[in-house]
Amino acid sequence: MADELLNLTCKQLRDKIAAGAVKSTAVVEAVLAQIADIDDTIGAYISTFNKHALETAEAVDEKIAAGESMGALAGVPVAIKDNMCTDLGATTCASRILENFQAPYNAHVVEKLLAADAVIIGKTNLDEFAMGSSTENSGLKRTVNPWDMERVPGGSSGGSAAAVAARMCFAALGSDTGGSIRQPAGFCGVVGLKPTYGRVSRFGLVAYGSSLDQIGPVTRDVADAALMMNVIAGRDKRDSTSVSEEMAPVCDYLEKLDEDVKGLKIAVASGFNAGADEHIRNALASALDIYKNLGAQIVEVKMPHLDYAIAAYYLIATAEASSNLARYDGVHYGHRTESPADYIEVYSKSRAEGFGAEVKRRIMLGTYALSSGYYDAYYLKALKVRNLIRKDFTNVFEKADCIIMPTSPTTAFKLGEKIEDPLQMYLTDIYTLAANLAGVPAISIPCGFDADNLPIGLQILSPAFTEEKLLRIARMFESKTNYHTHRPKPAEHTK
Ligand code: GLN
Repeated sequence: MADELLNLTCKQLRDKIAAGAVKSTAVVEAVLAQIADIDDTIGAYISTFNKHALETAEAVDEKIAAGESMGALAGVPVAIKDNMCTDLGATTCASRILENFQAPYNAHVVEKLLAADAVIIGKTNLDEFAMGSSTENSGLKRTVNPWDMERVPGGSSGGSAAAVAARMCFAALGSDTGGSIRQPAGFCGVVGLKPTYGRVSRFGLVAYGSSLDQIGPVTRDVADAALMMNVIAGRDKRDSTSVSEEMAPVCDYLEKLDEDVKGLKIAVASGFNAGADEHIRNALASALDIYKNLGAQIVEVKMPHLDYAIAAYYLIATAEASSNLARYDGVHYGHRTESPADYIEVYSKSRAEGFGAEVKRRIMLGTYALSSGYYDAYYLKALKVRNLIRKDFTNVFEKADCIIMPTSPTTAFKLGEKIEDPLQMYLTDIYTLAANLAGVPAISIPCGFDADNLPIGLQILSPAFTEEKLLRIARMFESKTNYHTHRPKPAEHTK
């Protein structure tokens, strides 16, 4: 019974709860039991809010029994990546510098989830400050991939993707600066959507690369991604980059989800995709066949500047990070060194003790790229490349509704395989970075399995503020396949 419950999607679950057929309290108890059973091994959560979750569920059940009208996620347990502020428990960013930091307020998206009557179960693990692609940079704990516990869950939203895949919540929020929602979703066999830059408020998201960061859902299917977008999308005056309703109205993303996109044109940059492993290219080819059978036309395109996305991204993201992370100084927030000799040591020792190796590497890289004498050669040049990448997208979207490419060049790699070699780790982001540089929305959906039964992600990108169509395109594929219904059986993968 509990297992059947845990397998439902958010949409199925909220319908049952709203109809009084299932009690939210029973669902929360089942989720907490699942976490108690397996999270010692998976390591998805940094903290859980058991008491709060049960109390919220009870309140939801009472309101439903009293016939009150309820929000879109009434009674549904969801998880939040631990770089979004909650006034419940700590917000750590998986960093020792913020290990005991209690945010005084909720992020906008958390307010939205609570207003929709969702139950916040806990905060999920990530690479420290969302810097990484495997969650191995977490300063607090290790997360493994529920499909194979010797492998990484992807990153940086590895905890969110692992929790959704392993039935330790029904949906989660992630943040995506260069692929951190889509890549872990791909590695864990779930759906991950990075909305258009400006579609979801970043208020209360701890900043990494402010011109790239965006919050989005990690879910088990496309309908749940649409449902989550219905709750979190929209203007918030506390984030000046969130876009107004007049400029880009928020749609009901669920309403027409099952309507096929007529005359669909899909762009494919075969040259760029050639770098992916063979089983991934094969899965992509099969996916394109499915779309062709649905009447879509495939348009071969060139996006010559995408080859430079990694170089441009790792300059821009680190430059912005070096500035954003200056606020952790041992004075304003978080960890402060004990008995410093002078005030300089308050800064230097607090930062030296609090930040992990990758975060320090990025602060140094970014500071270097912004320093006088190098600014023009590195940072400014990266901004110019970013513009060329944007133009590649504009050109392609004149000919096609969307672009399809792999989410990642490989499936989930082994724990420890790339952690000693930062460049190898950065290269795994080749297919995800461009969407952030261009600001366009992109989704990863399950599209197959490799020879080791590891999930493969298919990435679809579309023009800014066309999430409604993007979700419909993704749903077209999902409705003809059942990859999204597979679920990991961790025990079988433990060697
Ligand atoms: N892997 C990329 C990085 O390390 C992207 C991370 C993210 O999207 N937060 O910067």
